[in-house]
Amino acid sequence: MLDSSCSIPRVLRVAIPTPLRRLFDYRPSQTPPPGGWQPGIRVRVTFGRRQMVGVVESCHQDSDLPLAKLKAVEEWLDATPLPADWLWLCRFTARYYQHSLGDTLHQAMPVLLRQGRPLAGRVREQWQATDKSRHKDDERLKRAPRQAELLAMLCQHPHGLPTQAILAQSFTREQLLALVEKGLIQRHETPVAASPQPASGHLLAEPSLPLKQEQAAALAAIHERLDHFHPCLLHGVTGSGKTEVYLQLIEAVVNRGRQALLLVPEIGLTPQTLARFRQRFQVPVVALHSGLTDNERLDAWEAAASGRAPIVIGTRSAIFTPLSRPGVIIVDEEHDGSFKQQEGLRYHARDLAVARAHHHGIPLVLGTATPSLESLHHARSGAYRHLRLTQRASRHAPAKLELVDLRGRPRQGGLIPPVLEAIQGTLDAGHQVLVFINRRGFAPTLACHACGWLADCDHCDARMTLHRQPPVLACHHCDKRRPIPGICPACGSGDLRPLGSGTERTEETLAALFPRVPVHRIDRDSTRRRDAFEAILTEVKRGEPCLLVGTQMLAKGHHLPHVTLVVVVNADAGLYASDFRALEHSAQLLIQVAGRAGRSSHPGRVLVQTLHDDDPHLRLLAETGYDALAEQLLTERHAAGLPPFRFLALLRLESPREEAANALASAASAALREWLQARGPGVDCLGPVPAPMERRQNRYHLQLMLASNKRSQLHEACAQLTAWLEAAPEARKARWSLDIDPQTL
Ligand code: ADP
Ligand code: ZN
Ligand code: ZN
Repeated sequence: MLDSSCSIPRVLRVAIPTPLRRLFDYRPSQTPPPGGWQPGIRVRVTFGRRQMVGVVESCHQDSDLPLAKLKAVEEWLDATPLPADWLWLCRFTARYYQHSLGDTLHQAMPVLLRQGRPLAGRVREQWQATDKSRHKDDERLKRAPRQAELLAMLCQHPHGLPTQAILAQSFTREQLLALVEKGLIQRHETPVAASPQPASGHLLAEPSLPLKQEQAAALAAIHERLDHFHPCLLHGVTGSGKTEVYLQLIEAVVNRGRQALLLVPEIGLTPQTLARFRQRFQVPVVALHSGLTDNERLDAWEAAASGRAPIVIGTRSAIFTPLSRPGVIIVDEEHDGSFKQQEGLRYHARDLAVARAHHHGIPLVLGTATPSLESLHHARSGAYRHLRLTQRASRHAPAKLELVDLRGRPRQGGLIPPVLEAIQGTLDAGHQVLVFINRRGFAPTLACHACGWLADCDHCDARMTLHRQPPVLACHHCDKRRPIPGICPACGSGDLRPLGSGTERTEETLAALFPRVPVHRIDRDSTRRRDAFEAILTEVKRGEPCLLVGTQMLAKGHHLPHVTLVVVVNADAGLYASDFRALEHSAQLLIQVAGRAGRSSHPGRVLVQTLHDDDPHLRLLAETGYDALAEQLLTERHAAGLPPFRFLALLRLESPREEAANALASAASAALREWLQARGPGVDCLGPVPAPMERRQNRYHLQLMLASNKRSQLHEACAQLTAWLEAAPEARKARWSLDIDPQTL
């Protein structure tokens, strides 16, 4: 029986970070937490032979097992439960994605909480110069110059400095302790939660911009219902000032004493984006990104949970930030693929944002120039309010795409003569050019011109990419590397040539053709060093003529006011890919890239090279625009019975042994089909079929697809399937995972 007061339960049902979709019973520890046992309290338990941090999910008087057989939890870690809104979201996520609750809670909490660190009563260590140090120059520091520098720094901060700030200046803990020993500084601790509340009354640090008419109408529409669930698609062309709408919406929400959560794509959370928010607001803007230390991440989490942080900005995983006074959730570039986690807990942060806003009863804003077909479908059906910004804030309308036929034209670094002339013209006019090529490396592969040999990866059904900086063949799917062969491994010929172009080759060609201007390459390889990207952007913003060559890292979000020509080296990859979302995604990317052109005083031009300039989809995109193409794609998806008109789930299976993967896939599909047959129509099961790249990292990949018009039926079938898999002996010989609403097939 569930004991609602939960104060003296005999059994605690605990969620533990294992893949198993079930809870585990424990007896309470000797001493209960001060507020009694409650769901949401972290406990340390012995699981198998390991110590683990679990979360109490419910309290009971009885177990299915004899009470004497249950282990007691080792200790409780929280005096009070973790935040209620966060617990709700984790439970929802685990249920929706049919993932283990224990693992979901684990993934959704900061690393330090996973490790069992206390949340309440955390202190921050500070160091402060003593009075003694200010009066005399200490003889003892003559031979310790770093200690002397450290002391000087601390003397300039009479209120003390936190350890992190000191260590960040390359001082060491030993130097700190040595100064304490000498009585020159002292160490003290202040509670983290005691940091000052944001002062009321002075929210803005700079005035907001007077809104254009469409922006004002959109803001007013969202503003109408700030106390209700109110999903809005803010559909505005690139440069239409969506960010200004977010800023003023956040201002309104924070003025009402509520918190705003803004999700941005992985590539979008740059120091520049953050600067724009920090410049506007006087209150703290907490950023959650991969560069934070574990301590900083926990601080941010705690500041959001306590309500001290009025504005939280983060990438995908920030959807799991607890908020004590939620007021609005905004998802910028809602169509972006990085909102979907592609491994483990395969959640979609945008979809969770919808669920969360609904739960809190607050507005949700999905902003984009190129809506996902899902969101567009909801807007058309009236489920979301459709707010449009058709005008750019600057003078010039977004440039049209000009298709350039590649067929039968000589290419240099992937570019044909008329395009090279346009580049020359733009540079001569003193402007900047962005060349977009969605392939890093020198060339997509290496080929033998004598026998046709291609550099295949030994571990994957894929070609190895040729890199020159440093020279190596690398597989972008498994990261395997090998030296570039001097002669063909198949026939011994020396005639090995790069096939096609990547960013490095285009950079090399452009540098040779336009020696008078700098060529900046931006891709994952050139920006591995932290800050390298920012350094290039700062340089580019100075406005001198230059060439930018880059992958989609360059395409998204950046305001590059001096770029007036955008060149797309090859638009074709996405047009003919097998994935049903490939067209949608490549159209979104093309529009994003094109949106970099002509964002300030000069109009822009966009040249799109293609082998298929008569492709009807590409023509529609170029001549009429994304919205027309999206309408067309929606019609096609409807006819084909694909999302957003049907719901999909994908069971992925893999094993180093092809037979093991096949055996599990056949057994699972047979079991599922038998169950489906008994249930009557409603869910279709397709496959199993080999995954698009069957062999990857020397493992065989298969997939089984489930499709239904009804979400509830799809979920029921998935639950049946996972239950079968968890019990099946075959499942021990192969790995499997379930992907609800898969983004790629
Ligand atoms: P989006 O997010 O829609 O791509 P931004 O918000 O980045 O567009 O706006 C593009 C540019 O227009 C920015 O430089 C921004 O400062 C400017 N801008 C936005 N709104 C206004 C406005 N109401 N008046 C003047 N400039 C604006
Ligand atoms: Zn050969
Ligand atoms: Zn590989």
